[in-house]
Amino acid sequence: MIQAKGIAAFSAKEPLGPFSFTRRDPKEYDVVIDIKYCGICHSDIHTVRSEWGAANYPVVPGHEIAGVVRAVGSKVTKYEVGDHVGVGCFVDSCRECEHCQQDLEQYCLQGINATYNSFEKDGKTPTQGGYSNVIVVDENYVLRIPKSLPLDKAAPLLCAGITLYSPLMHWKAGPGKKVAVMGLGGLGHMGVKIARALGADVTVLSHSDKKREDALRMGVHHFVVTQDKKVFEDLEGKFDLIINTVSADVNMGDYFNLLKLDGSLVVVGLPDKPLSIHPFPLVLMRRSYAGSLIGSIRETQDMLDFCAKHNITPDIELITPSQVNEAYERVTKSDVRYRFVIDIAKI
Ligand code: NAP
Ligand code: ZN
Repeated sequence: MIQAKGIAAFSAKEPLGPFSFTRRDPKEYDVVIDIKYCGICHSDIHTVRSEWGAANYPVVPGHEIAGVVRAVGSKVTKYEVGDHVGVGCFVDSCRECEHCQQDLEQYCLQGINATYNSFEKDGKTPTQGGYSNVIVVDENYVLRIPKSLPLDKAAPLLCAGITLYSPLMHWKAGPGKKVAVMGLGGLGHMGVKIARALGADVTVLSHSDKKREDALRMGVHHFVVTQDKKVFEDLEGKFDLIINTVSADVNMGDYFNLLKLDGSLVVVGLPDKPLSIHPFPLVLMRRSYAGSLIGSIRETQDMLDFCAKHNITPDIELITPSQVNEAYERVTKSDVRYRFVIDIAKI
């Protein structure tokens, strides 16, 4: 077994702390990765605080993993020692269902093997994530990080980047389309950058005025503060696509009204409480309300290559492992600019 050291949550209420554990020895198709950086996603916080249901403690969170290949199994063909690689939100899937066969593994009908708080293929070994110095993953679930992307800034692309890239592509954001992003956090700011690069007209709908200058610097065309309820009248019927990245409950009815005829509101944010909706604003303008989960392995690779080509990287705050608990407090207060990334060398 390979010795690993990391940072884990031991209960919903305690701060995260140091944790030693083991990774499996590499099998034929496995890649051993020295983790260099790991982003902090709001999903890590929802999970370790058991906001989505009881977590299986201890939990080493982290699914925005960037690192360097340390070793490969005897039959690995896709990667070599020294390659820059990433791991996102899942480390395996059934590979046989119709969704896996169509490069839609994130929707695996058997359920994905999530990167943490889940189980490996054997169904009994808990998976542990990227707030740790090493991980072992089958080559088919490893991503290649283009060398032009610095590893610290590449890490958040593995979740925040793909979670916005996938719906922006699926709902065809591009020239002539008006796209709004609700919430300028880790996911939201990646949505802004990717939608901009795709050629869409981009609006941020934020719950305070604090991020206006940052948003304009990122290239948004319009920044709207939703505390002023008048904006919901002014913007009625304006957008083709709205993506909701908010991690808390918001009144969806207000936002449906901002869509054009046949417009779509896609939710990616996953608050702990249900979002209540009234069907009238959907029915009256044949609007759609949809959801989207991360992206497939193939799409994540496309996203990484797209970001390298367009020079898109997240805005990050690099922290040491000992600052993780403080970072969690700041994320829950919407005070992240715009993704915390842990420098794993300091673990
Ligand atoms: P984040 O960095 O905390 O960003 C969330 C943003 O939501 C905040 O920056 C804030 O933006 C806005 N917000 C927060 N509280 C609010 C409130 N009470 N009212 C209105 N707006 C509020 O979180 P994240 O890492 O981007 O993740 C966002 C959500 O997506 C989380 O629930 C996460 O679990 C989920 N997620 C889903 C997927 C998926 O595949 N679907 C993948 C990853 C994460 P403003 O200050 O601009 O308003
Ligand atoms: Zn995430």
